[in-house]
Amino acid sequence: MTLFDSPAFDGHEGVHAFHDEKTGLKAIIAIHSTARGPACGGTRMWPYESAEAALDDVLKLSKGMTYKNAVADLELGGGKSVIIGDSRTMKSQALFEAFGRAVDTLGGRYYAAEDVGVSPEDLVATRKMSRYVVGLEGFAAGSGDPSPVTAEGVFRGLKLACRHAFGSDDLTGVRVAVQGVGHVGGYLCDKLHAAGARLTVTDVNQDTLNAVAGRTGAEVVAPDAIYDVDAQVFAPCALGGAINEKTLPRLKAKVIAGAANNQLASPAIGRELYAKGLLYAPDYVINGGGIINVAAEVRALEQGAAFDPQWVEGKLSRLMETLDEVLTRSKSENRPTHEVADEIALERINAAKQKRDAAQA
Ligand code: NAD
Repeated sequence: MTLFDSPAFDGHEGVHAFHDEKTGLKAIIAIHSTARGPACGGTRMWPYESAEAALDDVLKLSKGMTYKNAVADLELGGGKSVIIGDSRTMKSQALFEAFGRAVDTLGGRYYAAEDVGVSPEDLVATRKMSRYVVGLEGFAAGSGDPSPVTAEGVFRGLKLACRHAFGSDDLTGVRVAVQGVGHVGGYLCDKLHAAGARLTVTDVNQDTLNAVAGRTGAEVVAPDAIYDVDAQVFAPCALGGAINEKTLPRLKAKVIAGAANNQLASPAIGRELYAKGLLYAPDYVINGGGIINVAAEVRALEQGAAFDPQWVEGKLSRLMETLDEVLTRSKSENRPTHEVADEIALERINAAKQKRDAAQA
């Protein structure tokens, strides 16, 4: 099979492979679409077993960013990059500088940010070589940690989902089971606690768990027991795949609303949960606050302006309108929420493509 007919290729505008002899850098930058603006997405460092596996991953992630940026109504396209290697042993300043030179060759068609295996600190070296690196602190218009904004979006989205499912968004006394209380999950618990929700939390990191439980009075359960909690809302805020064939039958919650990416193990499980009457706030819609925060930095850099928190707030409100549209259309058209979200994203992407084609004609 060639790259062009691989299922993950899906009309990518560009796929760029980079190698740096001196540092051993092997990286792929995939640009799925720039129809809505420059592509923006994180950089993942992972010890892929083959170049094919890395390519497959970067293509899927890059397409996902096109959809995520479109539902967040950002003037950004979708892209992603991967560095092939073990983040525990292969990181060096020179490697991230070499990666910066690679990013810079694309002349702003792609903005890099952090992702699994890559920290904002690593990207400081990359930023030295290219201005097309965002999500760092201490730089002009730097947007810093996106987690608080992600958590704010998830909190508002969770309330909205409750309004659709229960007819009220008053969280007083509502039991929420939170899986993973790291950066986003921790901030989310604080907000839920302040809103009067009752919390049951879990995490594989005992220190993080104790800290969050201590300040919110949350009940603590073992990681696997979170699926059996008698809660109205389940908030997955750890890793992907939380909703699968094994866990879905155990869930008692009517609403699933959390920060984690790729919560559904497959599109089929999304259809199954819908058929069971559960309301799922699609992950890449409800967790869009972080990319909105990053987009504010890209916008400021492109306009030579300062970071504008009010613009972030405007986009976050707009994101909640989109989530409302997803949930409303799902009900009126009798279709799973994740399918409606995909359709809205695609409508926006195609509209931007048509506009661009018309301008180029
Ligand atoms: P994080 O690493 O700070 O937190 C994740 C937490 O989950 C950690 O405390 C970890 O110990 C815990 N965890 C891992 N496996 C677990 C398990 N099996 N059971 C219970 N807990 C487990 O990450 P984060 O930045 O808070 O992101 C959380 C999720 O939200 C991720 O899926 C991330 O991709 C997604 N997300 C984050 C942002 C953001 O702004 N940080 C934006 C969009 C999406």
